[in-house]
Amino acid sequence: MKKITVLGSTGSIGRSTLDVIARNRGLFKVVALTAGKNIKLFEKQIKAYKPQVVAVADKKTGDALSKKVRGIDILSGPDGIRTVAAYAASDLVISAIVGAAGLMPTIAAIEAGKTVGLANKEALVMAGGIVMRTAAKKKVRIIPVDSEHSAVFQCIGDHKSDQINRIILTASGGPFVNWKRNDLRHITAHDALQHPNWSMGRKISIDSATLMNKGLEVIEACWLFGMPCEKVDVIVHPQSIVHSLVEFRDRSCLAQLSMPDMRGPIAYALSYPQRVKDPIEGLRLEQILTLTFSQPDYKTFPCLSYAYEVIREGGTMPCVLNAANEVAVNAFLQERIRFTHIPAVIRKTIDRHEVRPASSLDAVLEADQWARETAEITITRLR
Ligand code: NAD
Ligand code: MG
Repeated sequence: MKKITVLGSTGSIGRSTLDVIARNRGLFKVVALTAGKNIKLFEKQIKAYKPQVVAVADKKTGDALSKKVRGIDILSGPDGIRTVAAYAASDLVISAIVGAAGLMPTIAAIEAGKTVGLANKEALVMAGGIVMRTAAKKKVRIIPVDSEHSAVFQCIGDHKSDQINRIILTASGGPFVNWKRNDLRHITAHDALQHPNWSMGRKISIDSATLMNKGLEVIEACWLFGMPCEKVDVIVHPQSIVHSLVEFRDRSCLAQLSMPDMRGPIAYALSYPQRVKDPIEGLRLEQILTLTFSQPDYKTFPCLSYAYEVIREGGTMPCVLNAANEVAVNAFLQERIRFTHIPAVIRKTIDRHEVRPASSLDAVLEADQWARETAEITITRLR
């Protein structure tokens, strides 16, 4: 029985993870959970999965929760979440907090020697070098949960990196694929949250609509698979059936296909190197009929090019891109800026940044803070 911790259990990935666990009670047991502020759902999850320890984002939420559930350790705040991430009794930690808040808990899990199922791509964008070095030092395996990276991980199998020509990440293109730049101006948060193929949290849904999600995934792939960004390509594939491909040096390509359902890659991360029986519907290619592929429109969706630019630049630049994006997405969701302002805020912030080596967590967190303040100032001037 594998003992599982889920960080961010009330989110989209967190809920899907618990769903896979509930259907495979003989294989997995939940030992620890963390959530942000949704205590109504968290209380239900605690009662259903009976973890030994839990943590929430802040003390007020922790106090409210302790009035509702008894007989269990309730921790709170960033320290509490890090403590739960490192919980000794756990074998595998699913890291599914959204955004920069996921970085320190992910590192805490790695430092504690836990295998990590990584959904929180922002941790690798902010501090990929530190995360991967710590994992190597602690001999910790990081298993990707992101569907594209799970696909690449499955295709690579035992091949060494010198056998790989390139990685080809597929992108659905989001809800505005094939739209022209002028049409994007009046997009509302409601429009942008309607993803054609996936049901996801709010931040990643907006990231998918701007193609920043694919940009973050390019950076994520560079770190996870030790590839320079010149060897990571993106292709638009609106059906989201081919989850990504790997081209080897003999020009042979392997791809991973399945229905677009995150419970597939989640189940793989939970059960690796085994496979769970039927976590998702089978693929019916005769019903899908066509699979199409095209080049991304880098001009209309510049966030994707910004991601290539910052990973080439290196150091604190990817962290700054990530922080500026989080601030801009938040402002868009709060209807403080337009959809087309998101790339503008990111552009201005990265242009102002004097890059430093991302050699310590302090340097990374300082760049993150600087970028948030700079992006906020840009937003105030836009309005
Ligand atoms: P979500 O918004 O649905 O859930 C986020 C979770 O993090 C929630 O449990 C929330 O309570 C918690 N959280 C938020 N802020 C927190 C804080 N400050 N402290 C502690 N906990 C906090 O997000 P999601 O869609 O599940 O995405 C989670 C991560 O997985 C993201 O990094 C995303 O990019 C990645 N991912 C998601 C999908 C998907 O299909 N949803 C696919 C691939 C990768
Ligand atoms: Mg993805």
